[in-house]
Amino acid sequence: MNSWGIPDWLEREVRGRDKTCIYYGTQMIEQMPSRGPRRAVATWEHIINEASIVTRENIARCCVACNSSKGTKRLSKWIDSSYCKKRGINKDGCRCSETGRSAPRCAGGSNGSRMDR
Ligand SMILES: [Zn+2]
Repeated sequence: MNSWGIPDWLEREVRGRDKTCIYYGTQMIEQMPSRGPRRAVATWEHIINEASIVTRENIARCCVACNSSKGTKRLSKWIDSSYCKKRGINKDGCRCSETGRSAPRCAGGSNGSRMDR
């Protein structure tokens, strides 16, 4: 179990699945760089901000930029923020096709009905 209460098997699964930021498709890096921008560092994200929901649907990885912007906002609120507007992150159009994600999860999309591989 890691420090976020995510069991090892789930951590491995999500690490293997979410190679890029689930929201913006950013190519993420694992380590906090000693210098330079940290926006692309991978973080653990609870899509629904509820630490007790530890499922493959709710646990995901996104970049620092998205995570800090989203903060404790509900996804539906965050989607309306200027951060998302500027980046084209929205409920209807996801960026999966652009980023070529193999396990698409649309920001604000229906959680749980995601297609696996
Ligand atoms: Zn991001």
